[in-house]
Amino acid sequence: RLRVLSGIQPTSGSFHLGNYLGAVRQWVALQESHDAFYMVVDLHAITVAQDPAVLRENTRVSVAQLLGVGLDPERCTLFVQSHVPEHAQLAWVMNCLTGFGEASRMTQFKDKSAKQGSDSTTVGLFTYPILQVADILLYQADQVPVGEDQRQHVELTRDLAERFNTRFGPTFTVPKPYIPKETAKIFDLQDPAAKMSKSASSPKGLISLLDDIKGSAKKFKSAVTDTDTVIAYDEKEKPGVSNLLSIYSAISGRSVEELVEHFDGKMYGALKTELADYYSEWVAPIQERTRTYLEDPAELDKVLAQGAEKARAVAAPTLAQAYDRIGFLPPV
Ligand code: ATP
Ligand code: MG
Repeated sequence: RLRVLSGIQPTSGSFHLGNYLGAVRQWVALQESHDAFYMVVDLHAITVAQDPAVLRENTRVSVAQLLGVGLDPERCTLFVQSHVPEHAQLAWVMNCLTGFGEASRMTQFKDKSAKQGSDSTTVGLFTYPILQVADILLYQADQVPVGEDQRQHVELTRDLAERFNTRFGPTFTVPKPYIPKETAKIFDLQDPAAKMSKSASSPKGLISLLDDIKGSAKKFKSAVTDTDTVIAYDEKEKPGVSNLLSIYSAISGRSVEELVEHFDGKMYGALKTELADYYSEWVAPIQERTRTYLEDPAELDKVLAQGAEKARAVAAPTLAQAYDRIGFLPPV
């Protein structure tokens, strides 16, 4: 069995449609065919300031929501990143193998720091791609199911794995990104040039799965499109309409071609209303299941304790081998 690893930040009370379609939906599918490791990356979350109580709550909600969309702790290893200390430990090693210029080329950092200004941008935000390298390499992952925005970080992971292996001998599996094209990038409903994002989208552009369903339906209905009237898929000329078609296709399982035919001769309003209705029916059971898990904190704790144990069983020997290769004296 090939191994997959991925993570999601507990930076909001719910993940959004982009997170789900770009990444988490693949996680659910891959747990059937792969040896799967999935985590809530709280170490990544603190690259920007977090309120402790809110972070704790959001971490629990994230885990419940992952269970709510269909992750099964019997089929995958689900854990919280800070429960496995090896992540921070290997990250230091990887920091020392990364060029400053190399890290400076990461576009996620450039985008995020540009929005914050240099005084509120932390060194942690600068090096978080390197923590991500450690996250992936610790588990010897073959594939990394993520959205398009993370492709560059998986490339960095490949470079560092190869660099380490060349310098110290074969140690790490060189992973590949796993990014299905159709849902690689879901766009902000109000700004179809920007990716839907927990931290950067305006509330009206962001569909968070646990939000009030009526409110989300309204957001679909007021999504920004264009002044044309024909419903067609054209990312360049009709980014807003194409985004709605991608979303509808992905959650309904109907192909974009089929949908375009279905809407032939109809106005944008028809697409928006139908999508809003379909989404509402689709998301209700997800919310219900997430609530059930949140109401049983003892069960959630059990899942996380088991997950951390299974994760450490893989991460600890990988770190020990890396330490040994580097020349760290083994503890006596
Ligand atoms: P932030 O903007 O604060 O980084 P985020 O919305 O990107 O938050 P993350 O937790 O960083 O959320 O990302 C979790 C996963 O979701 C990653 O694999 C990422 O590539 C994917 N993802 C995030 N936004 C989108 C999007 N708009 N379309 C497709 N995939 C996405
Ligand atoms: Mg992100």
